[in-house]
Amino acid sequence: PTTGIPAPFPIPTGLLIGDAWIDPAGGKRIEIINPSTGDMLTSVADGGVGDGIAAVDAAAAAAADWAATAPRKRADILMACFHAMMAQQEWLAQIISLENGKALGDARGEVAYAAEFFRWYAEEAVRINGEVAIAPSGANRILVQYQPIGVALLITPWNFPAAMATRKIAPALAAGCTCILKPAEETPLTAMAVAEIMRRAGVPAGVVNLINASDPGPVCSAILHDPRVRKLSFTGSTEVGRILLREAADTVISSSMELGGNAPFIVLDDADLDAAIDGAMVAKMRNAGEACTAANRFYVQRGIHDRFVERLVERMGALAVGPGIDAATQCGAMINRQSIEKIDRLVADAVQRGAQIRLGGRALAGAGFFYPPSVLANVRQGSAILDEEVFGPVAAVLPFDDAEEAIRLANATEYGLAAYVYSADLKRALNIAERIECGMIAINRGLVSDAAAPFGGVKQSGLGREGAHHGLLEYCEAKYIAVDW
Ligand code: ADP
Repeated sequence: PTTGIPAPFPIPTGLLIGDAWIDPAGGKRIEIINPSTGDMLTSVADGGVGDGIAAVDAAAAAAADWAATAPRKRADILMACFHAMMAQQEWLAQIISLENGKALGDARGEVAYAAEFFRWYAEEAVRINGEVAIAPSGANRILVQYQPIGVALLITPWNFPAAMATRKIAPALAAGCTCILKPAEETPLTAMAVAEIMRRAGVPAGVVNLINASDPGPVCSAILHDPRVRKLSFTGSTEVGRILLREAADTVISSSMELGGNAPFIVLDDADLDAAIDGAMVAKMRNAGEACTAANRFYVQRGIHDRFVERLVERMGALAVGPGIDAATQCGAMINRQSIEKIDRLVADAVQRGAQIRLGGRALAGAGFFYPPSVLANVRQGSAILDEEVFGPVAAVLPFDDAEEAIRLANATEYGLAAYVYSADLKRALNIAERIECGMIAINRGLVSDAAAPFGGVKQSGLGREGAHHGLLEYCEAKYIAVDW
């Protein structure tokens, strides 16, 4: 597709296996749709089981050399990737907007966030420090060394097509692992552009491989059943996460899972209302709500509730909805038709149970997949929108009376990814933060994502952490050496 920005190279449309982009024998293609128009943008090669195994061959062949590459050299290559990616920020943002539908502002932010993982893990690659201890008996020493775990399969979703890829590739490479990236079939172009940027920035052949698959089940299953593969890192739905954990069980593959969320956003009545609204806009509307960290349920204490709803309606109602690629757009398209149908279903269910639509509330007609910013007030317990991720620009708001009630409601979900709390009393907020069952909670902030922080969930939101030093250790094995010394 043309982006209006001079392309540094044509976006590859094949599969990256070893040192080349190849077009598999069968010649099957996956059509990439522009969610803002419903039109086809282009098509990419569709990989099968044989291509998956060829990618494992390439990753396995490159593994020993990459693991033996000096940490400083690995760091230099990752830093080169950071600079190369930032040099193409505008071009990559346009690709993201075109294939994902998100507003350009969101897309630019994503590119910067995505590139940050290269910089962070360039800095971490030279800090994979082990441990030395004296055994309690005094008889020997305990040495612990962190070694690369081996070939990694990285499966990513469509909502952050750049950042979800780099969040996995960067720590894998820093640790000394080679990998196979399997991007979402809706948004492979961004990942393919990033993979090509990495290749040109000096990542050796076979260290990063990329396959697409319109039928990902059999291809990923074959890869996971190959004993040379030792790591699976997946970001996507809890449903697919469960399937992959079962697949990974057969070969006992170390698995990191970033799954669904159902983030509560709690506003206590002593909160700074302006700050809470600003935070709500970020937590709800970043990426038009298509984020697993997106605020899904707003619990607002009764004393501040009506003013909060009024202000939220005002701010959400002022957002410009349109094709991501248009400069004025603040809320872009949803990924596909199923997505807007799901949002419509959740809104209809909430309304049928007594919620009031204060803004929006119905998918927009037309060829693109647009849903307007929407606010539902007085959402009743038992509404599906409180249990399922809406993954769109809909805020469901409910009042509560005391903090104990808010905590109980916030924890009444199988998910436990992100949460948000607003209060002027830091002690109160910290107390709530400790008691919410989640992997990440923001106090008086609407954003948790940071390459330097451990991102991940508890309960059925996932296993393991990405980002920070924690993210590096997911790609390492602790080797214990007992020394008689
Ligand atoms: P979403 O609901 O956000 O589209 P999914 O969990 O369906 O999320 O998809 C996330 C990623 O998982 C995508 O890359 C998709 O191709 C991949 N995927 C879906 N089903 C399977 C499967 N059975 N095995 C391996 N990967 C899968």
